[in-house]
Amino acid sequence: MGARAIINEVGPRDGLQSQSRILSVDERLQLIGALEAAGIRRIEVGSFASPKAVPAMAGTDRLLERLNGEGLTTYTSMVPNLKGYRLAREAGAASVTVIAYASETMAQRNVRMTLDETESTAGDILRLARDDGVEAIVIVAVAFGCPFEGAVDPDFVGNIAARYLEADVARLVLADTIGAADPAQVGRLAGELVESHGAVRLGCHFHDTRAMGLANVYAALQAGIRWFDSSIGGLGGCPFAPGASGNVATEDVVMMLHQMGFETGIDLPRLLAASDLATRLTGTAPGGRAREWLRKRLGASGRDPSAALEARA
Ligand code: ZN
Repeated sequence: MGARAIINEVGPRDGLQSQSRILSVDERLQLIGALEAAGIRRIEVGSFASPKAVPAMAGTDRLLERLNGEGLTTYTSMVPNLKGYRLAREAGAASVTVIAYASETMAQRNVRMTLDETESTAGDILRLARDDGVEAIVIVAVAFGCPFEGAVDPDFVGNIAARYLEADVARLVLADTIGAADPAQVGRLAGELVESHGAVRLGCHFHDTRAMGLANVYAALQAGIRWFDSSIGGLGGCPFAPGASGNVATEDVVMMLHQMGFETGIDLPRLLAASDLATRLTGTAPGGRAREWLRKRLGASGRDPSAALEARA
């Protein structure tokens, strides 16, 4: 048995929120169904941001109501404020994702709050979640670089992370929201956090803007991180972060993990089908960089090509 790594699929939220074509709740459910069929057990399914601010996420309450209690998957959704948390709870959410910021300007542009205000709001949500028995994931936006402020001080990020980890969050995810990080930077920051807090509650979230997404996943893996946010077909971008492009593609991350001997519980042929569906539904999902290679190999054997490589090694 190989070591285990966890994929937290964020395509239905991070991926879809910036698309010009808005998917219906039924289409979103179809995509989530395909991801589950591929064996993904953690999915960020939507956001309780105001539908005026993020029209593509309208109806996340109805979506969540239809998903709840269907099986083994943990569905989380983003709650940007207390109102969002209440709406998520009313829809039966068992897990929520709370945003923290590593830059003052990003906080003000994204949610029109100061950094301190975002932290106190997050603290309120985390207390409610603990009382309600709801899992809370905290994602630290622009942890490696900010579109407005540029470089972000790693000590500053380390202190933010420490405060949330002390607040007992289930998972603390460092997000490279605009895809500005490089593997050396990731290795240093992830390494320091793993050394201080252990790896069990940490995770990383990379965008592939500068084509370093997979290299950053590798650097985080080497530092001990075993939880990765990724997006099917490389869907993504952020409406509030200029220059952000898609998340690192789930199929690329999973293929690399399998070939390196990690277990994810994910079936690559089915994941490829989910990636094709994401492209069909949005018209914009580029697909992972390995898609063509995977498709050729799958056409030949119908089996997980990276598993076949592993067996041959
Ligand atoms: Zn993102």
